Amino acid sequence: MAIERTFSILKPDVTARNLTGAVNARIEAAGLRIVAQRRVRMTRAQAETFYAVHKGRGFFEELVAMMSSAPVVVQVLEGEGAIAKYREVMGATDPAKAAPGTIRKDFARSVGENSVHGSDAPGTAAIEVAQFFAGNDIVG
Ligand code: GDP
Repeated sequence: MAIERTFSILKPDVTARNLTGAVNARIEAAGLRIVAQRRVRMTRAQAETFYAVHKGRGFFEELVAMMSSAPVVVQVLEGEGAIAKYREVMGATDPAKAAPGTIRKDFARSVGENSVHGSDAPGTAAIEVAQFFAGNDIVG
């Protein structure tokens, strides 16, 4: 399988509870390398752009408000099949449906406050990485 890069966000419920290190430990234990990382407070406009695909959905307002409410940690993760692997480590969107041992099962509070974001495909990964990192910010 090819070495890929995926985009990750540790959401406000993670930074608020001082779980950045605990979530990063899960990421690294899965064999994914954190090749870029920055703590940022997203503006509302940044959150709207990032989640533009969900505009018009019932939860869009809540999602944008939550993502811009407090600091997040944006990351680039690298590894073999990193996109699918990280989705597996994250678990299902709704923590109640997430498999045992996944980040969302063990840390998420609800479908809204579900601890992490991970890209779902190579195209979206490239777009999402480029929204927050320049090429020379990423050191593999
Ligand atoms: P993901 O790829 O697993 O993050 O899931 P989606 O792309 O379907 O949704 C993006 C994000 O929107 C999720 O991670 C949740 O934070 C949020 N979200 C999705 N569905 C709901 C919902 O029904 N209610 C709320 N409050 N948030 C939701």
